[in-house]
Amino acid sequence: MADWGGTVLVAGGGGFIGGHLARTLHEQGFRVRSVDIKPLEEWYQIPPGVEARRLDLSGLANCREAVRGIDTVYNLAADMGGMGFIETHKAECMLSVLINTHMLMAARDANVGRYFFSSSACVYAADKQVNADVTALKESDAYPAMPEDGYGWEKLFSERMCRHFREDFGLETRVARYHNVYGVEGTYDGGREKAPAALCRKIALAVLTGQHEIEVWGDGGQTRSFMYVDDCIEGTRRVTAGDSAVPVNVGSSELVSINQMIDIIEQIAGITVKRNYNLDAPKGVRGRNSDNTLINEIYGWEPSITLADGLERTYRWIFDQLSASDATGDRTVA
Ligand code: NAD
Repeated sequence: MADWGGTVLVAGGGGFIGGHLARTLHEQGFRVRSVDIKPLEEWYQIPPGVEARRLDLSGLANCREAVRGIDTVYNLAADMGGMGFIETHKAECMLSVLINTHMLMAARDANVGRYFFSSSACVYAADKQVNADVTALKESDAYPAMPEDGYGWEKLFSERMCRHFREDFGLETRVARYHNVYGVEGTYDGGREKAPAALCRKIALAVLTGQHEIEVWGDGGQTRSFMYVDDCIEGTRRVTAGDSAVPVNVGSSELVSINQMIDIIEQIAGITVKRNYNLDAPKGVRGRNSDNTLINEIYGWEPSITLADGLERTYRWIFDQLSASDATGDRTVA
């Protein structure tokens, strides 16, 4: 397996997954440039030794600057968040198409060796995700296309653009469809957080404030699989280095309902909470799981960190963040 390679760019390196990827690549001996639109003080992590630059990658000139001298591009930059964000910011999600378009053009013109694009399980057709008791999604289920409005359409379109840049211009593109990534050093409040971090935050606040009551979005019966970020980074490295250019699921196949995830976090936290179900809140699809047949076939690997293990690490980290920021102040547990 060729190991791409050399000097690498992590676009979106100030974000959750990008921060972990930049640190891992640096630890593995690559020269890493990380670029993000956010001011450096807002990045989740800037590992020592990583070149960190603030650039808006929706513009072509900035993309050209970002890829100068780069062998491998990991494009993780996108305007995104959890269900609460993507259901209410569809146009903003679609504008991420500017980032991938201009990054592809800049990478092609700079003769970049490999180009990785982080797609999403949100590309899958909504009518395949209406039951909590799911049949796991296999890669071919993305067509006929009816992805998540806004965010999912942008991802599916950008996947295809990667394919055509490979076919027409010879740029070696690789695409992973991530399924719900969570972990330490990520978003846990502010409106862009996803279910695992939001629930860890709510239960940690319940511990800290003594108010053992939380709001749950939906009826708690919706099902998902969640991948710990270390598995996501490993999968990203394998997909980028591999020979296959077909989009592949990178996700856990351990299916849980939101209620089951709350049970696990309660156990970790050592409390039980009263669950107030908000049926009007954004819920996303009813059920979704990752079919890992293809990733196993191609890479002989699939994510394996258990939800209990990953949530333990994530809960502890969020609890410590909240404790350090005086969570008992004027925060609420809703
Ligand atoms: P994130 O929001 O933490 O990271 C994305 C980063 O991109 C942010 O730091 C943001 O500031 C940056 N960005 C946005 N617009 C930019 C611009 N114009 N120029 C430069 N940087 C810009 O999200 P994440 O969870 O780390 O996700 C990384 C990638 O993985 C995204 O493409 C996302 O769509 C994809 N993905 C994530 C998940 C998940 O569960 N986290 C699931 C599926 C796909």
